[in-house]
Amino acid sequence: MTSDIFAQIKEMVDAREAARFYGFNVGPRGAALCPFHPDKHPSLTFKGPHYKCWSCGAHGDTIDIVKYLLGCDTWTAVRQIDRDFALHLPLGDKQPSPQQVEEARQRQRTRELYKKFEAWRKETIDQLTNCIRLANTADWARLTLREAAAIRLKEQLEDVTDRLLYGTPEQQVELFEQRKEVLALISSISITSQIG
Ligand SMILES: [Zn+2]
Repeated sequence: MTSDIFAQIKEMVDAREAARFYGFNVGPRGAALCPFHPDKHPSLTFKGPHYKCWSCGAHGDTIDIVKYLLGCDTWTAVRQIDRDFALHLPLGDKQPSPQQVEEARQRQRTRELYKKFEAWRKETIDQLTNCIRLANTADWARLTLREAAAIRLKEQLEDVTDRLLYGTPEQQVELFEQRKEVLALISSISITSQIG
């Protein structure tokens, strides 16, 4: 399966390692000048098989950076990495069509995004549940600021939790896209706690 090949490459070769190997100048702290915009201070950082520019938002993985550095297509980059890093992946002799390669990449991206979404959903439900519990178990005679905030926001917390637990896939994706707002809602209760 072509998408498994992509996954294996990313597991075995870090984006930074590949970038360095193909002559890209990565500074001692691991950051680099971003090649995708006129960059004066290193804005490009690496994490495992991914890179991201904190200035222009360019991002991608090991295969993307090699494609860019070698100026080649995905499959050529895959073969090159396989050879240069002695991965011995079962690439076969027959070259998949560009369309097959593109479809496989798309499938892999979808899988990765889904994993990220599931992790976020689980963690967020836990945090929301904690906030709701705080509101439900508060002693009204001596409320902390944190409990007061949880009580004030309880309806909103329950609404988001319900949508995450029982909402349609579309509703859940919508919340994922608004995850900054969801995080702000949760943080408004935990941040209050530091004062209270
Ligand atoms: Zn950039």
